[in-house]
Amino acid sequence: MLVLQNFINGKFVDGKKFIDGFDPSNGKIYVQIPDSDNEEVEMAVNAAKSAFLGWKTFSSEARSKIMLKVADIIESRIDEFALAESKDQGKPVWLAKQVDIPRVVHNFRFFASAILHTLNHSTQQPEFDVLNYTVNMPCGVVGLITPWNLPLYLLSFKLAPAIACGCCVVAKPSEMTSVTAWMLCNVLSEAGLPPGVVNIVFGTGKLTGNAIVTHPEIKTLSFTGSTVTGKYIMEKSSSLMRKVSLELGGKNAAVIFPDVNIEKCLLTCVRSAFTNQGEVCLCTSRLFVHQDIYKMFCERYVSLIRELKVGNPCEVSTKIGALVSKEHLEKVKSYIKYAIEDGGTILCGETIDCLDLPEEIKEGYYFQPTVLVNLSDMSRCMQEEIFGPVVCISPFTTEEEVISRVNNVPYGLSACVWSQNASTLQRVSGKLDVGTVWCNCWMIRDLRMPFGGMKMSGLGREGQDHSFDFFMEKKTICMQF
Ligand code: ADP
Repeated sequence: MLVLQNFINGKFVDGKKFIDGFDPSNGKIYVQIPDSDNEEVEMAVNAAKSAFLGWKTFSSEARSKIMLKVADIIESRIDEFALAESKDQGKPVWLAKQVDIPRVVHNFRFFASAILHTLNHSTQQPEFDVLNYTVNMPCGVVGLITPWNLPLYLLSFKLAPAIACGCCVVAKPSEMTSVTAWMLCNVLSEAGLPPGVVNIVFGTGKLTGNAIVTHPEIKTLSFTGSTVTGKYIMEKSSSLMRKVSLELGGKNAAVIFPDVNIEKCLLTCVRSAFTNQGEVCLCTSRLFVHQDIYKMFCERYVSLIRELKVGNPCEVSTKIGALVSKEHLEKVKSYIKYAIEDGGTILCGETIDCLDLPEEIKEGYYFQPTVLVNLSDMSRCMQEEIFGPVVCISPFTTEEEVISRVNNVPYGLSACVWSQNASTLQRVSGKLDVGTVWCNCWMIRDLRMPFGGMKMSGLGREGQDHSFDFFMEKKTICMQF
């Protein structure tokens, strides 16, 4: 049995209390995860505080060099990381190898390079013989709390810019997917990161997460996870006057006009709804299809869904792996019940009963990709984030109508618009209350662009300058000659 340890001040430290970690592909316990308490978090904060005194004096070039080494080591162990990520989270191993882990490598390389190109600004006021300039100062000890769906990617998307800026980190990955963060600790040491710059404490949200959130010396906190936890973090942070970045849930829609490139649209809408079992905050779970093509779209979409193989994440032919946990599987199933109560129709999917799974993975947390129709916009499946392989399709008639329906949810993370007409794309994307709009595509990311949500999808933006602004304080210095 794998037993994880906290990583504090560059050393692995035994936990005191443990929780079980399950392999979602077969339901078996395979790892013990420390459930760290206030005292262990305190040790991590103290280590980060001491390390900050040295780390903030490193030049950007010196920090960047270490980060590039981190990227190289992860890349050289891509198979190991991909397998661990898949075993922990349930995602197909090919997806982890082709997408998730390369994106981790890219995060370290990108922010290592971007920090070398950030400049402080200056202005002159000759009438007063004055030169003004700003200096960017690292915030100090920062807290990072991350979720289970893209475990190492989301951790590295925060950790890389934080250390590039000269901050020291206390991080907590999700208790459901901690193994790759634990593997990262060795990589950080091997790359020469000084002890205490990154400290990783493992455990539940209730105990470890809460100890981070209530710690008065963590004055900057970046979180990705549910809206419920995000609200709690914001509430606890107000009395500390803490800076928070919150990347929360989504209920993303695609708007499909009749003049669409239908082949590309269908394939992309399959990917955007079912990648990573639909367990990505950016997954598109509402498809609004113009009534002129609605019937044809549904038929062709369902026939593509029926081809998606659900099964063992280790097999290359698997398109949909296992959901992350038994509790999450039950939650996703409950939405099918709500859909039926709300008068919805199941076009395909619904249960795991029709899955022909081999004996050794029968106890895994599998769910058929499911397509629902005939639901009102106010039904639970159309309003709430399901975070699983479930998509709702609904017809629309006018542009004005569909814009208001897309916006009529509490969330505002992302949307897709499909049309061959550039002015339609521009008009509609301009009116959607979301942080990112993809036109005729999905999930093409550029780390230079701001990423984040509106409304209940969160606060703040991440990405090159946005992450650097978050992890640094700006000071203006005015000098008269
Ligand atoms: P999800 O429903 O996607 O698991 P959560 O918001 O529950 O989203 O979890 C995201 C991260 O937040 C995880 O690392 C989890 O342990 C942590 N977390 C959950 N509850 C709390 C809390 N009360 N305080 C701090 N962290 C929390």
